[in-house]
Amino acid sequence: MKKIKADEIAQIIRQQIENYQATITVDEVGTITKVGDGIAEIHGIEKVMAGELLSLPHEVAGLALNLEEDKVGAVLFGEYHLIKEGDQVKRTRRIMAVPVGEALVGRVVDALGRPQDGRGPVISDTYNPIERLAPGVVERRPVKESLQTGLKAVDAMIPIGRGQRELIIGDRQTGKTAIAVDSIINQKGKDVICIYVAIGQKQSTVAQVVKTLEDNGAMGYTIVVAASASEPAAMLYLAPYAGCAMGEYFRDRGKHALVIYDDLSKHAAAYREISLLLRRPPGREAYPGDVSAYVPTNVISITDGQIYLETDLFHSGIRPAINVGISVSRVGGSAQIKAMRQVAGSLRLELAQFRELAAFAQFGSDLDKVTLAQLNRGKRLTELLNQGQYQPVEVEKQVLVIWAGTKGFLDDLAIEDVKPFEEGLIRFVENSKGSLLEKISKQKELNDEIVGELKSAVKEFKERFTAERSRKAAAA
Ligand code: ATP
Ligand code: MG
Repeated sequence: MKKIKADEIAQIIRQQIENYQATITVDEVGTITKVGDGIAEIHGIEKVMAGELLSLPHEVAGLALNLEEDKVGAVLFGEYHLIKEGDQVKRTRRIMAVPVGEALVGRVVDALGRPQDGRGPVISDTYNPIERLAPGVVERRPVKESLQTGLKAVDAMIPIGRGQRELIIGDRQTGKTAIAVDSIINQKGKDVICIYVAIGQKQSTVAQVVKTLEDNGAMGYTIVVAASASEPAAMLYLAPYAGCAMGEYFRDRGKHALVIYDDLSKHAAAYREISLLLRRPPGREAYPGDVSAYVPTNVISITDGQIYLETDLFHSGIRPAINVGISVSRVGGSAQIKAMRQVAGSLRLELAQFRELAAFAQFGSDLDKVTLAQLNRGKRLTELLNQGQYQPVEVEKQVLVIWAGTKGFLDDLAIEDVKPFEEGLIRFVENSKGSLLEKISKQKELNDEIVGELKSAVKEFKERFTAERSRKAAAA
């Protein structure tokens, strides 16, 4: 047998490496065979990765989405109308990335991380890929810390935990964005970076949200990623990935981030448009337009719960217009402080009984005392949970007022007195019983001592409140 010498082997290997590199270089450059509507078909870069950034003339960028045997479909970003058939496309071997980091905080950027607020460039040398392998289930810690929204109805009954994905769903104009914006406002001073991703909204609507955040001092810890309705579908498609990548930057540094995608049905529509232009088969992934419930059902299945808002409730004055019966948080409860769990348990029960009775009471006229009392309580608790926009309530104050409500201290108040009572009670306890609120937030549990203090504080305030009311009535 002929012996192969060591240097011969080395030569063969060297040759193979050279040949290998040669094939790669061929693959680095491709040619556009078709272009239009912000989509390009490219030949010659068949080894491209899904999600890879492509470099085109005129500083146009491409995102490789459709990998077929003999061609690649890509969406284009930038001045793509300048791109023609026959133009060259270079691979970059990098997954598309967006700038991330502290420099983005307080800024309004587009889906590529470019500033949109006229406040100069975003100076960041850190980029995160838009698509990344998520940490495995084993690596993740269970949800153990709450994310307070400041909304009584949500924090008490549909509590959200850090690490949780919660869907806010509802018809048009039912207060979905309001819940998201209020949750951001409530993160002030809580060391949570917020990222609001506006997908397919009117520019004026986005500007309004930014102004609201500014007015409430929330832009200091917020990034707004905006892909408005007038932008190409590719930007709308990219925006949530960009927002997510920006959030991951903070996650990877042990910080907390709240990311809002407003909203995903517009994202689905953009994705559908791109899919059809790329001639992807209109399967489930392409979101067939004739299956209208597809988006919500699909999103429900990938989230850990949903806040369901209803037009009827909204119009009957319930704000936030949450249908408590079909809203759920599948993991957040474990992150609620114990004191809240203690008061929320009876709240849920009272409200569930109320809803059942209210539906039933429509038909009967003479109701027994117990039923009347339950209806009475339910109406007052419902009023108590009503909350205007931009008025987040801290958790210990929520515990205080919900405790008062479920213990019957509102039962003999007129409905229109519930709100003034609530506000007055919070102010009273804050001003003259400050240590009680501190105890609730520190000990996080309602023990006998705290319950005793709650009882005497609420009683004392109620006496003042009713005395004040009768004085007014007498004067009138
Ligand atoms: P769209 O479907 O158009 O995105 P949406 O569901 O996001 O609507 P919002 O824009 O949040 O709804 O709210 C609709 C209207 O209701 C707004 O004018 C908002 O100010 C008002 N609104 C929402 N929540 C409250 C609240 N808690 N109190 C008072 N007004 C509210
Ligand atoms: Mg909205």
